[in-house]
Amino acid sequence: MPAILLNDGKVLLHREDERYSLPEAQPESIVAEGEKFDFEIEGKDYTAVGVTGCREIEGMEWIGVRDSWSRLDAGAHCAVGKGSELVFWARNNRFCGGCGAEMKRSTEISLKCPECGREIFPSVSPAIIVLVKRDDKALLVHARQFTRPFFGLVAGFVETGETLEQCVAREVKEETSLDITDIRYEGSQPWPYPMQLMIGFTARYAGGEITFADGELTEGGFFDKDHLPPLPGNGSIARRMIEKWIEEMKENINAKTK
Ligand SMILES: [Zn+2]
Repeated sequence: MPAILLNDGKVLLHREDERYSLPEAQPESIVAEGEKFDFEIEGKDYTAVGVTGCREIEGMEWIGVRDSWSRLDAGAHCAVGKGSELVFWARNNRFCGGCGAEMKRSTEISLKCPECGREIFPSVSPAIIVLVKRDDKALLVHARQFTRPFFGLVAGFVETGETLEQCVAREVKEETSLDITDIRYEGSQPWPYPMQLMIGFTARYAGGEITFADGELTEGGFFDKDHLPPLPGNGSIARRMIEKWIEEMKENINAKTK
């Protein structure tokens, strides 16, 4: 069964030339720390284990969970994401938040306090991401936190007591000062960095001038499909949504010229 060995945001991958894959079993020289989760994704079994120390192993390489994305096939990366969420969750909930006693594994995906009985399950943080359309253009922005010089979509965390639609409107308003309307669900993607769920929407521009008053964004504007800035990496929901919009724009042009 493929082993997902995780430590400090990194996963151990087997490397042969430039091809990466998950090791088929846990290398004997690696000692597991205790967090171990077995699960199945699309009919394939995996085991995820938390380990300490990124030991060097011949023919293997420790790669950041996020960077493993471009090196693994979609199914394997999905499994790495799930495994890293579970191990992160277990490591960050060693003690009961109610009474401070040491938590014990209760079921495959729950921890229970032997003193007060408090039981907890892995929880993800929902975040929204939105493609705002204005005529034949889309709003693309560069955020201070982006590590590479690309332009993506407005995104942000859902706050307590807020609907997803309210969150979408608030994030766009806060980050760009724009008003939007016609907010529609587009799709979602697990975002295991460390435990989020990215929920995608489209919306239409309704008014206002762009300003980046709250400081999260540094640049941005409305771009047409023929004058796009560098885009987010393949595989991200942002990239998928932008590519879908480009296809829509091409279809619009084809429909007009017929
Ligand atoms: Zn307790």
